[in-house]
Amino acid sequence: MNVLVVGGAGYIGSHCVRQLIAAGHRPVVLDNLVYGHRAALAPGVPLHEFNLGDEAAVERLLRAERIELVMHFAAYCYVGESVTDPLKYYFNNGVATLHLLRAMLAAGVKKFVFSSTCATYGVPAALPITEQSPQAPINPYGQTKLDVENALKAIARAHGLSFAAFRYFNAAGAAEDGAIGEDHSPETHLIPLAFDAAGGRRPQIEIFGTDYPTPDGTCLRDYVHVDDLSRAHIAVFPKLAAPGAALFYNLGTGRPTSNREVIRAVEKITGSKIKIVESPRRPGDPPALYADSTKAQRELGWTIKFPDIDSIVATAWKWHSAHPGGYGR
Ligand code: UDP
Repeated sequence: MNVLVVGGAGYIGSHCVRQLIAAGHRPVVLDNLVYGHRAALAPGVPLHEFNLGDEAAVERLLRAERIELVMHFAAYCYVGESVTDPLKYYFNNGVATLHLLRAMLAAGVKKFVFSSTCATYGVPAALPITEQSPQAPINPYGQTKLDVENALKAIARAHGLSFAAFRYFNAAGAAEDGAIGEDHSPETHLIPLAFDAAGGRRPQIEIFGTDYPTPDGTCLRDYVHVDDLSRAHIAVFPKLAAPGAALFYNLGTGRPTSNREVIRAVEKITGSKIKIVESPRRPGDPPALYADSTKAQRELGWTIKFPDIDSIVATAWKWHSAHPGGYGR
């Protein structure tokens, strides 16, 4: 299939682009390169560089490249920043996505794969989280993703759009060959920051909150390998053949890992001691988030190749040790 990958030069998008190629599809990337990296794309992958706000250009691109399905990864993803600068998130994650969807309808493209998030669940009443768990986000990041999910449902009903919204837990790790990996600027995510601290590029790592009602007092998250995530995006294609399909899947390993355990795993693989500073809680952080992903496993045949934090950070280490400065700017 001809697949437009919006945000395809970003972290999860670029891993998906590689898997699309490996599966025999033809990805075309649209990325404004605000956070994406040209170097995350193999030579020869078509890259179009503009904003979704240019709706007419999006429509032209969809027609010119004969796009059959759109994957949308382009979003801001900093929970903390979404609390301090909500408009940035409402415009980029919300309004920009609506432009994309309107351009798709205009061009007659009716298959859509959307990056949603476990942040749509807020503080879950019960764990692990299933797709039926109530969605009540506690930060604008999660709210904007939920807003798009709701828009998608209405568009599916009204116009026969078929979509899958994947609610990611914590994407982590890097391609097994170490060629591409995680490089955010600014970096706020725990695993890459821990590698920076282990490699001496940062003096220390702060743990945000050590008084949570969890076994070691730090937040619990469900880290899921970026290539495991990517495979689900392709596995869902046959299901999108039915007009109006509205599909929601959690993608996580189901295994809770505390912030301290993450840091220990990075220490173990790097052989370096990391200096930890215990800091106050970060606004917008639920204490524990981990997934029940049996629906994706059952319906998509999704399998988890990297089930635990050690196997995930081992791939991240391969990337970080070969590219200590990331892609370089
Ligand atoms: N975290 C931390 N120190 C950092 C960055 C993150 O303690 O320097 C914590 C954060 O508060 C959360 C967990 O690590 O409990 C995962 O955060 P991250 O930003 O990696 O992903 P998120 O869960 O926000 O998507």
